[in-house]
Amino acid sequence: MNVLYEVSDLRVDMALPGDLLSALLPFRRPVINILNGITLTLNRGETLGIVGESGSGKTTLARTMLGLVPASGGQLRFDGETVGPAQIRRLRRETAMMFQDAVASLSPRMRVGDLITEPFVIHGPAPANRQARAGEMLARVGLPPAMADRYPHELSGGQARRVSVARALALDPALVIADEPTAGLDVSIQGEILNLLSDLKESRGVSFLIITHNLAVVRNTADRIAILYLGRLVETGPAAEVFARPAHPYTASLIASEPDPDPRRRRADLAIKGEIPGLLRRPKGCEFHSRCPRAMSLCRETRPALREIAPGRSVSCHLAVPDFPDLPTNRAN
Ligand code: SF4
Repeated sequence: MNVLYEVSDLRVDMALPGDLLSALLPFRRPVINILNGITLTLNRGETLGIVGESGSGKTTLARTMLGLVPASGGQLRFDGETVGPAQIRRLRRETAMMFQDAVASLSPRMRVGDLITEPFVIHGPAPANRQARAGEMLARVGLPPAMADRYPHELSGGQARRVSVARALALDPALVIADEPTAGLDVSIQGEILNLLSDLKESRGVSFLIITHNLAVVRNTADRIAILYLGRLVETGPAAEVFARPAHPYTASLIASEPDPDPRRRRADLAIKGEIPGLLRRPKGCEFHSRCPRAMSLCRETRPALREIAPGRSVSCHLAVPDFPDLPTNRAN
C-alpha cells in the first residue's frame, strides 16, 4: 500500500473570542490548543477510523486535513506534496467531505441531480450530459435515476446519506472524509451505508477517513483506527487488534460503553465515566487520569509518550508495554 496522506506532529491552536479589550487587541485573545503532536498516515484504498468523544479534536483534525483550518505547527503531505497555499486547490478537488447532517448539507432549492453534479460546475469540466451523469452516480450508490428530480426534503434519511455519498464521489476523489456517516439513521440503514462505503473502497480504491464518537461505526468498516483524547492520539493500530485487545484504558472504556444486546455481557462498571475535561484546563500528567480506573500516582505527574508496542500499534499509557496485561471490556470478540 502506498501512502496517500501523511500528518506529522500536527498542532492546531485557536484564539477564543475573549472580552472587549481582546477584540480591540487581538494579541490578548486567549489561545487554546486543540490538537497536539498528531502523527498518522492514511494509505491508498484504506479506511482509517478516527474515534473520540465530543471535544477530542476529531472534527478539527478532519477540517485541517481538508485545508479548511490552518495548522499551527507540524506538516501535512498529500500524495507526496507538502500541503501549502499552492496545493489547496488540488487538495480540494481530490478530497471530499460527507457532512454529519446529510439533509442540512444539501441545498433545499436544488434537485438531487443538480446537487450531485454541482462539484463539476465548481471545479470543472462540466459533463456533456449532466442528467446522464447524475443517473450514473445515483446507480453507483444504489438509488434509481428518477431520484435525480427530487428535492432533499423528499428523501428519507438513508436516501439523503446515499445522495451525499454520490456527491462526495462526483469528482472521483482519492480521499473521502465522512463525519459521523450513520448519525440519525435506523440501525438497519446504518449497516447499509457502512456496507456501501466498504464496497466503494474495494471497487474504486477510495481512501476513507471516518470520524465518529461511536466505535461500532468503525468496528467492521475500518482497517485501522486512531483514538483521540483531548487532542492527542492515545492509541492507534489495526482495527481488529485494537478491538480484540485494547491497550489503553480509554479505548477499553469506549469498547465497554458500546451497547451490548446480551445483558450478561454488559459491564456498566467498565463504561467511560465523567466528562471530558475542558481544553482550557488540561490535567497535569496523563490527561486521562481523572477518569482512568487504573490511574497510579505516576499518572498524575508524568504524561506518557505515544510509543510503539508492536508493529503498527502505538499507545500512550504507562501500562502499555509489548506484553501488556489484558484490559477488561464487555465484548466477546
Ligand atoms: Fe490510566 Fe495512567 Fe495509563 Fe493514563 S497513564 S491511561 S492514567 S494508567
